[in-house]
Amino acid sequence: MVKKINIFDNPQKYRETILQQTDLIVPGKSKFDGKSLICVFLTSYCGVGCPFCFFKSPNPKSIDNDTENKFNAETVDKFISFANEANVGYLQISGGGEPFLEREALLKCVQEIRADRIILVTSGSWAFNKLNAEKYLAEIEQAISKRKTLARVSIRLSVSEGHSIRLKERPLVNLLRLFEEKYRDNENFTLQLKTFEGDNTLVNYLNKYFHGYSTQEVVKNQSDDFNIIKIMPWKSKITLTSGYGVIVGKTRVFEPSLKPNLNDEQSIKNTIEVFDEDLEQSQSNYPSTVFNRDGTRGIDWIVEYNGNVCTWQNRVQDNLLNISEDGYDKVLRVTMQDPLTLSFVEKGATYRDQIVSEISPRTVKLAKAVGIRDYVGTLLFQNEKTRLYYTLRVLQDYIKDGRIDTQVIVSLPVEIKNALNLDVEQLSRSYARGRHSMLDQEFAEEQSDIRFNDFLELAELGHYDLDKADIDRARKHVEVIRSVGQEQEINQDRRLTKRVMKQKKFNWFVNNQTSREKIIHLIRHGETNFNVEGRLKGQNESIQISFTERGLSQINDFSNQLREYGTERTTNTTI
Ligand code: SF4
Repeated sequence: MVKKINIFDNPQKYRETILQQTDLIVPGKSKFDGKSLICVFLTSYCGVGCPFCFFKSPNPKSIDNDTENKFNAETVDKFISFANEANVGYLQISGGGEPFLEREALLKCVQEIRADRIILVTSGSWAFNKLNAEKYLAEIEQAISKRKTLARVSIRLSVSEGHSIRLKERPLVNLLRLFEEKYRDNENFTLQLKTFEGDNTLVNYLNKYFHGYSTQEVVKNQSDDFNIIKIMPWKSKITLTSGYGVIVGKTRVFEPSLKPNLNDEQSIKNTIEVFDEDLEQSQSNYPSTVFNRDGTRGIDWIVEYNGNVCTWQNRVQDNLLNISEDGYDKVLRVTMQDPLTLSFVEKGATYRDQIVSEISPRTVKLAKAVGIRDYVGTLLFQNEKTRLYYTLRVLQDYIKDGRIDTQVIVSLPVEIKNALNLDVEQLSRSYARGRHSMLDQEFAEEQSDIRFNDFLELAELGHYDLDKADIDRARKHVEVIRSVGQEQEINQDRRLTKRVMKQKKFNWFVNNQTSREKIIHLIRHGETNFNVEGRLKGQNESIQISFTERGLSQINDFSNQLREYGTERTTNTTI
């Protein structure tokens, strides 16, 4: 008897087969070719040390070519090209870390990216000293003046109890005074303030240093931009006694945690509520797209400090893209070809949550309970089985919508075709029977002992669908690790952040290199008549010189070798 194959025993193999079908899904009516939004993190470093920091941003380090943690000059250029090709309308340079630490990168982006609206999000650590602040503001103003297109640029200063532990009132007072003195009439270079609901730090500082200021409510849910509808749900305006006014945005506190306790419903209730409320009010349940006033829709992109790029809340670990090696066209094509990422762009968050809930309500809860919107896609699809289940369910829906090329479906392996014919109940039963688990995945990962300890801790907090036998197996493994001694402890927050912020493995690195050093090949020209005669040409251009037959054949051989070697690995080639 032939044993029936359950595709959930080996989910990644089948998902990869589906990913290879480049023409599987017929493009839909929505074009997503309107103005787009990009949020970019130039660095993961900060040093302000807010206790609630989403990204656990470490103190700045100066490490050469630290591309896992910040942009280098090459990444900045690639990012600028990406943004301009992406038809960016709204650019938010944010953190991740403190973007103002990357001065040159920030100024270049302000000067060269053709967005209509640019927001520079900052803790203001650079404005702690008024003279520094004055100088930096002048540089930004100069970068704005060199732009080829008009843009409204705002510095958005975060003010909260956490920020003020190290920074006190200094950035707020310095920036408010400088803008009041120098930029109050410049509509294209403004200051905004951002604080949290229930945090009185801003009000206390304003009362102390700007006595007599007034506050007016601004219409609720108003957009921050003329073209793209970008909602900041709670806004007000403060006016100083001089008449200078500044917009203040207020957000609810997310209370993020990379280790939420899913076994304690009460402890995660508030974070989930805030997450759901923000999703509905700020993103209308479609975090990966933006709605434009002219009726078009564009894409909401995020580019992380390690160069990874995806549509917002849609990062999936088995289909990573990176601006260092993937240009805009490829990023868009790959995103729109993967049923998993395409469906999130087209159908939004409610659709995605419903499907994942069919097989793992726990995972949906986890993604929200962590409370970091950038990590949602990665957390939902950590498990290879979940990725395959979701991909199949999306394909079933696209078949119903008439969006699937039937010729391509015919060519798929029979196991996938059979799975596509199952109803939801049958498919989820097949999922439950699949022998692959998060524990197998963890064992298969090339990883350190300390990382496995982290995994067990998360498993015990209820993060994964593991049965008792799996948990016992994981505990036994940890006992063995402990008996042979532990690796040196490093900051767990950073390790957990790295679990979800893995950088794409670059193709040139995966295929050929054992290190990330660049290889420079020096190649001399082919043989000439002067070489044969043992003469030197020098710089005398009047001398007649030509390649010999041997020289021409050397050039020919070299060009063939270059073709085989692959142009992906050769840049700036001069022959
Ligand atoms: S200023 Fe921002 S990036 Fe820096 S520690 Fe605070 S929250 Fe994190």
